[in-house]
This record gives sequence, C-alpha cells and structure tokens, in this order.
Amino acid sequence: MTTPLILDGKSLAKQVEESLKIRVQKFKDTHNGNVPTLATILVGSDPASATYVKMKGNACARVGMQSLKIEMPQSTTTKELLSKIHELNIDASVNGILLQHPVPSQIDERAAFDAIDLKKDVDGVTCLGFGRMSMGETAHGSATPAGIMAIIGHYNIELEGKHAVVIGRSPILGKPVAMMLLNKNATVTICHSRTRGLPELVKQADIVIAAVGKPEFVQGSWIKEGAVIIDAGYHPGNIGDVNLKDDVTHCSAYTPVPGGVGPMTIATLIRQTMDSAEAICIESRF
Ligand code: NAP
Repeated sequence: MTTPLILDGKSLAKQVEESLKIRVQKFKDTHNGNVPTLATILVGSDPASATYVKMKGNACARVGMQSLKIEMPQSTTTKELLSKIHELNIDASVNGILLQHPVPSQIDERAAFDAIDLKKDVDGVTCLGFGRMSMGETAHGSATPAGIMAIIGHYNIELEGKHAVVIGRSPILGKPVAMMLLNKNATVTICHSRTRGLPELVKQADIVIAAVGKPEFVQGSWIKEGAVIIDAGYHPGNIGDVNLKDDVTHCSAYTPVPGGVGPMTIATLIRQTMDSAEAICIESRF
C-alpha cells in the first residue's frame, strides 16, 4: 500500500496568486493604472461571514487587486439589497460582485443572487450562470466547485468514466460540482439527506466529494481502496466533512483540512474577477 497523495490546495492557491500578480500588473499598465475590482457585500454582522469577506479582501490585496467593501445592516430589506446590486452592476469600475452567503432571513437570497449581472457573477451564484455552465457554455463557475476542479486538474486526476459520488446538493457546492464532473465525463451519483444506503454508494466511488456540512461525517470504512477524497467541509477546529483521523491510508489521494479546498475557493474567486476584468474590457472595445 502506498502513502496517499496530499492534494495541496494551499500551495496551488499560491501559484494561482503568483500568476494573478502578473496579470494585474499587465492590466494596470494597459488601463491607465486602473486595477481589477471585486465588490464584496456583507449584510449583517455574522462573525464567520465577516471573516470570510476579510479573507477575500486580503487575497485581492495580495495580488494587487482592489476590493470595494460594502457593509449593510442586519435589517436590510430585499429591495435595498437589490438596489445596491443594481448600482454595482452598472458601475464600470467594478468587475466582480460577491454577495456573502448567508444573508439575513428576511432577504430573498435567490432574488439577490440572480440580480447580479452574469458578467460580474464571479462567485458563480446565479441561476443563469449555473444553467450555462451545466450546458457547457461560458460562465464563471461556482467558486468552491471550480476550485475543486482546479485541484483535480492540477493533479491530473482522471475523471473520464470514473464514478464520482457527491454527498450534498446545495446550489453553491453539490449541484454545480456534480455538473462540472459530469461535463468531464465522470459518472456522477448525487447523494443528499434522503439518500438510502449512503455508505454502500460511497464504497463504489472512485472519487468522493464530501459537501455535507457535518463534521467528520464520512467514515474511512466507506472509502474504496484507491479512491480520491475531496473534502469540501470546514468546521471550527479545522475539521472537515470526512473523518480523516479514521483509517484512510487505503485512499490514493485526499485534500487536507485546512489547506485543501478552502484556499482554492478564494483563489478561484479572485481569478474569476481578473477574467471578468479582462473580458469586460475586451467587450467594451467594440
Ligand atoms: P448545505 O447547504 O448545508 O448543504 C449540505 C448538503 O448535505 C445538503 O444537500 C444536504 O441534503 C446534505 N446532507 C445533509 N445531511 C446529510 C446526510 N445525513 N446524508 C447525506 N447528505 C446529507 O452546505 P454547503 O453550503 O453545500 O456546504 C457543505 C460543506 O462545505 C460545509 O461543511 C461548508 O462549511 C463547506 N464549505 C466550504 C467552502 C470552502 O471554501 N472550503 C465553501 C462553501 C462551503 P438536503 O439537500 O437533502 O438537505
């Protein structure tokens, strides 16, 4: 039995940032010193959400991009949030819009996500973007799933004809990652809270994507010999959705927590902001 390969999302994210620094500088040089800008919207004062927004702003700063931080009160209405999003949609200096999830319960989150202009939907949260991505058309992918696909691509993990079992079907993670895997010719099983016989299904998987949102839910004994484990989960205490303390030495590769999927989510968000800045500028020339 060989030692499993650690799929190092942290060092891959660093590589992405290094290449972004060069692209940002080139953009500045050719656009009168303007820099690509990500607008981040934080509604309310949830400390975890505030931390995530800060981490995204810090990543922008590391590569020389600008982040425009918008903070709205907990009492914000859907109408007020939609109005802010429309303002950012027509602001030519903004290349990407991130609405931090979740928003307070009085807000229609789906309406807010779908109000984001497709070109500026760098977090890949709109229904239109999801639909286009699923059909193999151009759209920014949902950030965490696109980050997962970047890890899989970087490590040359073969997908064609492989059985991928995705645990979770959320709009930001399970559903889009399942479509991305399908588009790469994997055979995909999507599991959720009503799935029967989950351990038996996971035992058939060549690739397991854990996006359950439950600490250490997936057990080592469910993992087939030689399978690849992608753990998208993150819980306090640096715990993922897979019980990596359990015996997983028989897997071929896995993403650690922390340092796996998380860093690539942020790197993907800022890369897609850069893509958007370049695409919008190309378009505005005509
Ligand atoms: P979510 O919206 O809560 O979705 C969880 C999914 O898991 C749902 O589809 C749910 O099924 C399914 N599920 C719940 N209990 C289950 C069970 N017993 N058996 C099988 N499926 C079950 O969570 P999410 O937003 O997708 O996030 C998932 C995980 O990823 C979390 O740990 C979160 O912290 C992490 N995450 C990480 C990043 C990152 O950057 N690293 C980004 C986003 C999320 P139903 O649909 O039937 O309810």
